[in-house]
Amino acid sequence: MQQFQFEYKNLEQLRKELEKIRQWCKVKVTSNILFLIYSESTDDKQIEKICGTIKEELPSAQYAGCSSNGNIASGHIANAPITIVCSVFEYISTKVEVLQYELSDESANDVAARLIRFVDMNPWVKAVQLLVTIRGMSMTNFCEALYPLRGGVQIFGGGAFNPDINNDTACVFSSAGKCDSHSVAFILYGGNDLNVMSMHITGWKPLGRWFKVTKARGGILYELDGRPAYEAYYKYLNIQNNEHFFRNTLEFPFLFQLHGIDILRAPIASNPDGSLTMTSDMAEDVIAKIAYGDPHTILDRVRRDCQAVRQFQPEIIQVFSCAGRRTFWGQSEISKETLPFQTIAPTSGFYTSSEFLRTDGHVNQHNVTLVIAAMREGGVSESEAIAFEMQDESFSGKVSMINRLATFIEAATSELREANEKLALAAVTDGLTGLYNRAEIQKRIVAKCDEEDGRFSLVMIDIDNFKFVNDTYGHAEGDNVIIGLSNRIKDVVRELAPAASAGRWGGEEFMILLPNFSEESAEFFAEKLRKSFAYSTFPSVGQGTISLGVTVFRPGESPDSICIRVDNALYSAKRGGKNRVVAL
Ligand code: GH3
Ligand code: MG
Ligand code: MG
Repeated sequence: MQQFQFEYKNLEQLRKELEKIRQWCKVKVTSNILFLIYSESTDDKQIEKICGTIKEELPSAQYAGCSSNGNIASGHIANAPITIVCSVFEYISTKVEVLQYELSDESANDVAARLIRFVDMNPWVKAVQLLVTIRGMSMTNFCEALYPLRGGVQIFGGGAFNPDINNDTACVFSSAGKCDSHSVAFILYGGNDLNVMSMHITGWKPLGRWFKVTKARGGILYELDGRPAYEAYYKYLNIQNNEHFFRNTLEFPFLFQLHGIDILRAPIASNPDGSLTMTSDMAEDVIAKIAYGDPHTILDRVRRDCQAVRQFQPEIIQVFSCAGRRTFWGQSEISKETLPFQTIAPTSGFYTSSEFLRTDGHVNQHNVTLVIAAMREGGVSESEAIAFEMQDESFSGKVSMINRLATFIEAATSELREANEKLALAAVTDGLTGLYNRAEIQKRIVAKCDEEDGRFSLVMIDIDNFKFVNDTYGHAEGDNVIIGLSNRIKDVVRELAPAASAGRWGGEEFMILLPNFSEESAEFFAEKLRKSFAYSTFPSVGQGTISLGVTVFRPGESPDSICIRVDNALYSAKRGGKNRVVAL
């Protein structure tokens, strides 16, 4: 595989570059010529002229391209607004095919179905690159519709964009279609000797506090934890709702898990109702954390993933990098995360409005992410390890400060979270026994009674002749017996009723709620507990006994009613001679 990358200056210079490629092809065996054209200009006249010239000079070549927020050539952000990347495939077995379809919410399913059918009919397809306009529609549907695509076929690519980050105008074009503002171009790669590797890199790290998305529609995020979404940025990061909003929030996108992987979403704008317009869709009920970008952490990830790419021994590398990353790094530093790839193989690509990658069958729409696609014709060479260089970067002191503060926030948040969890547990727990306290067990009984077709039984327990224990052996030994009984309760619950709730009802009285227990199985449970306690021995007291009342819930009755009945059952057990179970 051979690659020619050049910046477009004018048609005359383009013809010269094409002539060079033609000369090179003359002396080599070649199977396919593919041009990828990335343009910061959305001027379709200019784009058509470039495409027309390629068609004239190299009629057998295929091409595809889109408008961009900046281009990457030789691993570096390009100076010229248009870059042209020509890949010449040298293995006869390699196949490349370009398709293009009009794309909208209405046509998304149909377009996905067409691609799936094409791939089904062409077993040679190994990977699909997509260049797509994303504005004006929800990409979630389109991505999900691609799920049934033949397993193992990789999908990667980017969303067309505009040099102005606030301008939605974008276009896609190819040798299979015209320059179109609502379109997707698929470039299918395959054949026995072509190998493709695709992956994604973010490098952003989550900050401690998490939010639940309580209201969202498509790309509009309305509420987090029931509050207007904008408040999260104002309250926690003091980001004002002004013309710098996008720039400021870019450093702190939301991070959440989808299909088991990390996805980032940045807000594009904050709306008067407190909602946020996000770079792409966010679903309700996901748990999102605010994430922060830190140059050291990002470059560490790049370094690690470059090693994996190097092992693959690619001949060319494509990069689809978020326009937001370009804004985040700034013009002078952005290439630090793409240049390391260039030391492995010729690296090209563009700054996107979204990055797409298929992972575990799911096509995910990423933001603030780098999607990498590496390709090689033929096998790997055992002897020649491909070099990879990356300098240790130094940044201003501000960066390590960010890192330290983020660590501080993470630690403080997790301490608070643990303290809150302990407090919440303490509020429902009895101190002596570790079982639920009376308020909690009462609450659970009330909730169970309120359930539609709630089925449960109650077991109430009282230690026999406990005053005697206290009077004879002292209060402390009495406490030991209470703890001993609660341990037996825990054992029997674990063994017979893991879904049960057991609580301390009063001094030496206990209540156990047994969900889905009939009266008979509750009696069995109670009998087991009675025996278990009877066999326990205590240092001074020796052995003790308990009495138990059992009853089953009668649909429609009140919590008071069932509690009085189980208390009566217990009273009957006492009156009947203690150390027994009575069901009522
Ligand atoms: P019965 O067999 O009829 O239940 O007789 P009893 O002596 O056990 O009588 P009752 O259940 O009414 O007595 C409860 C006693 O439990 C009264 C109180 O002194 C004692 N008690 C209540 N809470 C605690 C506690 O937390 N620790 C100790 N050691 N004793 C307690
Ligand atoms: Mg009692
Ligand atoms: Mg008692």
